[in-house]
Amino acid sequence: MKVSVIIPAAGLGTRMASVPRNTPAKPAATKQFTELDGVPVLVRTLANFVKIPEISTVYIALRASEIEPFRARLGADFPEIYAKNPVLVEGGEHRQGSVANALAQIPAAPDDVILVHDAVRPFVTAEMIHRVVQAAERYGAAIVGIPAVDTVKQVERTAEGAMIKSTIPRQQIVLAQTPQGFRYEVLKKAFDEASADGFTGTDEASLVERSGHDVVVVMGSPRNIKITNPADFELAEFYLKHS
Ligand code: C5P
Repeated sequence: MKVSVIIPAAGLGTRMASVPRNTPAKPAATKQFTELDGVPVLVRTLANFVKIPEISTVYIALRASEIEPFRARLGADFPEIYAKNPVLVEGGEHRQGSVANALAQIPAAPDDVILVHDAVRPFVTAEMIHRVVQAAERYGAAIVGIPAVDTVKQVERTAEGAMIKSTIPRQQIVLAQTPQGFRYEVLKKAFDEASADGFTGTDEASLVERSGHDVVVVMGSPRNIKITNPADFELAEFYLKHS
């Protein structure tokens, strides 16, 4: 059984790869290329996967214009990652298209495991990765998630703002993180069906769920944050300093 990883990192809006945050007179980098203590978030994320011996290949989906600059940056500054020969593929319009493009490049057997992990979750641990690989091998589909601590409301968007329609019991809620892992045959079927039906989901599990396959949840961590807004960078800097 082989394990491959797809890192979708082709989020729109990047005008320059790998510039430090808050550098004056340079365009802002998108989240995956913003540097935390001199290292782009994407590189920090990759480092967690390339050190795991069971993982054979890492596929990274990037905007076309960022492929060569990113390859050059890895070669120049991060030789230990460059040496693992990550495959850089062109991303799609949405995250799902980026993952689909990478999936199309993977020569996998039906039972091989494919992990998908957000470029902007640099605090994933080896334990989380192992938990997902084991559960994906066993059940065919697994994600990391954490219990909801806030009360969750279902709302309707109106001109007046969001109006609450119902309260969802939080014992029934899990907040989905990544990595998400699947047997190749399960993921491929789900992507083929979503493409045929014109369905776009915000994670891979949603595609697999709609294809009728059960998806198991294993324990993630509140530290496995998805860096999304400026406050997340402050938290990330804090975690780095205290790790
Ligand atoms: O936008 P969202 O929060 O879903 O982004 C999650 C991940 O998907 C990010 O790492 C982002 O770079 C990636 N993405 C992508 N291709 C797109 C849009 C987002 O690979 N077209």
